[in-house]
Amino acid sequence: MRDSYLPYGRQMIDEGDIEAVVKVLRSDYLTTGPAVAAFEKKVADYVGAAYAVAFSNGTAALHGACFAAGIGHGDEVITTPMTFAASANCVLYQGGTVVFADINPKTYNIDSVEIEKNISSKTKAIIPVAFTGQPADLERIHELARKHDLVVIEDAAHAIGASYKGKKIGSLSDMTMFSFHPVKHVTSGEGGMIVTNKKEYYEKLIQFRSHGITRDPDLLQENHGPWFYEMQFLGYNYRMTDIQAALGCSQMDKLEAFVARRKEIVAAYNQAFEPMAQIITPYQQSDSDSSWHLYIIKLNTLELTAGRKEIFDELQKQNIGVNVHYIPVHTLPYYQELGYQKGSMPHAEKLYEEIISLPLFPSMTEQDIIDVITAVRSVVKKVAK
Ligand SMILES: *Cc1c(COP(=O)(O)O)cnc(C)c1O
Repeated sequence: MRDSYLPYGRQMIDEGDIEAVVKVLRSDYLTTGPAVAAFEKKVADYVGAAYAVAFSNGTAALHGACFAAGIGHGDEVITTPMTFAASANCVLYQGGTVVFADINPKTYNIDSVEIEKNISSKTKAIIPVAFTGQPADLERIHELARKHDLVVIEDAAHAIGASYKGKKIGSLSDMTMFSFHPVKHVTSGEGGMIVTNKKEYYEKLIQFRSHGITRDPDLLQENHGPWFYEMQFLGYNYRMTDIQAALGCSQMDKLEAFVARRKEIVAAYNQAFEPMAQIITPYQQSDSDSSWHLYIIKLNTLELTAGRKEIFDELQKQNIGVNVHYIPVHTLPYYQELGYQKGSMPHAEKLYEEIISLPLFPSMTEQDIIDVITAVRSVVKKVAK
């Protein structure tokens, strides 16, 4: 058994990252200076989007996207239950109604057949999540969006560096959100970004992240002079600091190497677990290239005498930092109080009972990988039928 605890995710910071942050600390701007603009440009150029707006975190970015999409009271937004709460909460911040559409049990992503069933005259947007880094069924989702005049906001917190039918995630939908939390592919400490090709969304996002205030002479209703600004709607202070942006910018240079390393680890896991009847390894879509934020094993309960909890606890005992992604959002107490029903999303609820996320991050050593494989094999074989 390993003697140190292996977390499920961890940032990888080098001297270049540290120098980039220190440089900002010695400069004139700690916030909303040149580093934020440089980070935005770097991400926009990388994904092939015209505009990018950095936010204090990914959740704030999603809130901004819902605002820019014009979501308000009475509007319905469709998303997946198999995600982090933020994918749905952003709709509630704007007074909208979340409508969950169940997942495809094979891909674990939102099922476009379920999306279509849930479209009503009140539907305004769809928030697909590239769960674990694997893009959702974007072609069909965009078709539905065109047909019903809906905005598509991709929650790509797991998917910077991923691509769909040869195109980078971030270049395809009305707006796409990335998160730079330390467990994600590249980090800025906390941080998020919306990328878009539409100037109209870009302008709204810029203003939203800074109180709804503008100084842009083209946007002002009156102009008293060079000091003049207007607050034109209720925005927030969701700005990213230059300290964060400098880290994010420096990390972007390593994104491709980070993703490549994740893929090596995934290949080792697949090779080890595919032959085991007790484990179902992640499905790999042929239409997309996952950026592998998470590696999730599904337990084949027919082949096991123990449940997920026993296996999870035993792996934790062996210092393997396993996790579970996610508790379906509609089953969380707050959503239960809002009236969402347990049992309404059978595929997501069943999946939740059977999954374990294994450690996956670029600085894992060969020994770390062996430790995970050895522990999973021995724990699962002990309870195999
Ligand atoms: C991390 C994450 C978010 C939120 O990002 P933060 O930067 O932590 O606010 C949203 N959606 C999903 C699916 C995430 O994994």
